[in-house]
Amino acid sequence: MPEYRTRALVLRTFDQGESDRLVHLYTETLGRVSAIAKGARRSKRRFPGTLEILTLIEARIVDPPRSSLMRIEGAKLAEPFEGLVNDLGRYAVGCQLLEMLDRFTAEREASPELFRFAEGVLGVIARETPDRLLALLVQLKTLARLGFRPQLASCSVCGGEIQAPGPMAGFEPRHGGAVCASCREPGDTDVAPGLLLALEAGIRTPLRDRGQLGLGPGALRRALVLVDRFFRYYIGAELRTDDFLRKTLPLDRLDANQRPEDTPPTAPDPTGGDCEERVRSGSGRLDSDGAGPRRRLEAPE
Ligand SMILES: [Zn+2]
Repeated sequence: MPEYRTRALVLRTFDQGESDRLVHLYTETLGRVSAIAKGARRSKRRFPGTLEILTLIEARIVDPPRSSLMRIEGAKLAEPFEGLVNDLGRYAVGCQLLEMLDRFTAEREASPELFRFAEGVLGVIARETPDRLLALLVQLKTLARLGFRPQLASCSVCGGEIQAPGPMAGFEPRHGGAVCASCREPGDTDVAPGLLLALEAGIRTPLRDRGQLGLGPGALRRALVLVDRFFRYYIGAELRTDDFLRKTLPLDRLDANQRPEDTPPTAPDPTGGDCEERVRSGSGRLDSDGAGPRRRLEAPE
């Protein structure tokens, strides 16, 4: 039976029966796969610390001929992304990326480029002070990688360059993005051309340089609405992690280290195997020492 060794990001896990665990992986060489980890629930030693979301593993996977599910035979921890699990804001942004990979990529369609993009982005998020602009740019960059890049620097109707400063432009997902002042129709959204160009720069700029885009809270609020409309138009769904992001990284501050006293974010339930469940349950709080949503290596299996 075919056997593969590949690096893989753990996207989501589910308990399966008494002793097994079903794992969604985004692998470097096979794309997204669902695989069963036999005995993972029963034995702590079989997959120690490797089948946790937001980890990068080296997996040995077999593809049994008469089964639609692959099987994880072994896994070695390659990168635990500790920075993602010890801060709730970074965790939320990381979960957003995992959700997009899990829901909007085709099963067994390999894209090593997308894998390396995700690996790189998670590595950056793990070191950044998280904020909503970071989350927005991760979403935009990922959308672009998935083939849904909004047109921002030129008019999606006539192709004319968007210029800032300049007359009010528009943004219409049905056309593919930006609409210049001459092509705008009555009722179309109006958007400052500078904002469109800042978002275009955001897709091209490394995440850590996002402070240079000049997007203040007002522009960011506007940008979130535009990207949300674009996302719904092309993906036809909303991200389940959106709500978690909104609560974890409120817009009234751009610096995630200053959480307002009256709205303490809740940490997802550390017993669940996926971001969404943890987010929905809303149970648990950050540890009193601020150690984050969970301590992976100490977590009971
Ligand atoms: Zn135009």
